[in-house]
Amino acid sequence: EGSTPGRFVLAGRTMAHGKVSISVDEYSSNPTQAFTHYNINQSRFQPPHVHMVDPIPYDTPKPASHTRFVCISDTHSRTDGIQMPYGDVLLHTGDFTELGLPSEVKKFNDWLGGLPYEFKVVIAGNHELTFDKDFMAELVKQDYYRFPSVSKLKPEDFDNVQSVLTNCVYLQDSDVTVKGFRIYGAPWTPWFNGWAFNLPRGQSLLDKWNQIPEGIDILMTHGPPLGFRDWVPKELQRVGCVELLNTVQKRVRPKLHAFGGIHEGYGLMTDGYTTFVNSSTCTVSFQPTNPPIVFDLPNPPAT
Ligand code: 5GP
Ligand code: MN
Ligand code: MN
Repeated sequence: EGSTPGRFVLAGRTMAHGKVSISVDEYSSNPTQAFTHYNINQSRFQPPHVHMVDPIPYDTPKPASHTRFVCISDTHSRTDGIQMPYGDVLLHTGDFTELGLPSEVKKFNDWLGGLPYEFKVVIAGNHELTFDKDFMAELVKQDYYRFPSVSKLKPEDFDNVQSVLTNCVYLQDSDVTVKGFRIYGAPWTPWFNGWAFNLPRGQSLLDKWNQIPEGIDILMTHGPPLGFRDWVPKELQRVGCVELLNTVQKRVRPKLHAFGGIHEGYGLMTDGYTTFVNSSTCTVSFQPTNPPIVFDLPNPPAT
């Protein structure tokens, strides 16, 4: 019995038409408390279903009829020394720059152009300031005092910053199908120090997660869901999004959830159905030393 959807159904209501509807979790605003509560009362983060997963070595032969995904994240304009393994599809889950400067985006795009993967799929993170139009509009009003180098940009320098990414598919609340896999990507993370794509915990983030369609194979977000590679040791806190976890486990159920965001959480876990991969390349001190994580998935049946 590899998957037990029925075990966790409490905060997800099944509607008359058979779809599950997620509502805001009562512990939404306090993820550390949410983790303790659901662990004690529902064993929600306990073995045997929930456990660590070892990354596969790069020289592991790819099984027949599988696609190999190479997961990276949080490269923060420090791509020069990264050794990239063999694979079919590259997934980058945000924070490819420090500030989203067009010069950084161009350098990242050039680096992508030299990589041999058949497809490259990228989302933004909270550091890609120029990709968040609402954030930039607010920053102008605040006279840019937080980000002096961004203040030197003229609107026409970053209006079309997405179009600099010519060597990948860029997803922002959108999806793409590659090699038969339906992949959805979204940049939003719980508010933390007022960066780009930050939203309050609760309904604001749930509204974004509610846009994720059922039936996707791979979910890409910048940050982790509650309880899976979301521990911040220096604060002794869980910071993953409770609404994202409920959406993933109770409604969307992708085979792979790729993210980064919390650099300290680098590594893999499973809940018995979905594999959660935090592939943060940079450490908490922004050294790009965590190796890319490769993951094989069986090809979907041809339709
Ligand atoms: P970044 O600035 O690249 O988005 O995140 C770098 C580091 O900041 C993370 O590895 C983590 O230590 C910390 N951080 C990021 N987001 C959060 C958050 O939501 N809460 C807490 N406590 N720390 C965070
Ligand atoms: Mn980061
Ligand atoms: Mn980040």
